[in-house]
Amino acid sequence: MLLFDLVTTSRRVAATRSRTEKIGALAELLRRLAPEEIAAEVEELKMSIQRHRVERDREAASIDDVLLQRYDMIFRRRGGLAVAVAKSGTCQGCRMRLPPQLLQQLGHGVFDLVLR
Ligand SMILES: [Zn+2]
Repeated sequence: MLLFDLVTTSRRVAATRSRTEKIGALAELLRRLAPEEIAAEVEELKMSIQRHRVERDREAASIDDVLLQRYDMIFRRRGGLAVAVAKSGTCQGCRMRLPPQLLQQLGHGVFDLVLR
């Protein structure tokens, strides 16, 4: 196992908010390991998760409590996806077409409208 693989996978996991994609990237990494490498890599991944969790909690501390609670609730219900990009008038999370007024509000940074 090259360190490069671990770093690449760690970045892929950090870059996506989808729990399914995170698990997929980790499973892919573990499949490429020789049996004697698995325990050490699992430890490395645990430490990586811990580092990201600390970073996440630090960022979360600066977010409004009510907004954060809504985010966490949606995150749990939706299997790790609570925020999606709106592109060309369509939500990239659920492919729903967004009403023009909502798009306009999103464009003005009305963040609590993002979390529904
Ligand atoms: Zn959506």
